[in-house]
Amino acid sequence: MIDWYTCPQTGKRAYKNRKDARAARGATKNGGTGGALSVYRCVEEGGCGDLHLGHLPPGETRAKLKNRREADEARNRRIRGES
Ligand SMILES: [Zn+2]
Repeated sequence: MIDWYTCPQTGKRAYKNRKDARAARGATKNGGTGGALSVYRCVEEGGCGDLHLGHLPPGETRAKLKNRREADEARNRRIRGES
């Protein structure tokens, strides 16, 4: 089951984790083709800080997303004590 709620700032669906966001993307029409939608973190002023699906916001690039994702994953590993 995909767990999501509505972001108070953007009105988009917000996902708490990347697995759910990816699963939701997979359920969209173009999702399976590596297509139009990206998973990105909501970093708007007042945003939820969780994950949304969509076209990249202005100023975002795939390189930036990748950097942030890697930073996220490193932080998660630290939280789990995997160093
Ligand atoms: Zn949001």
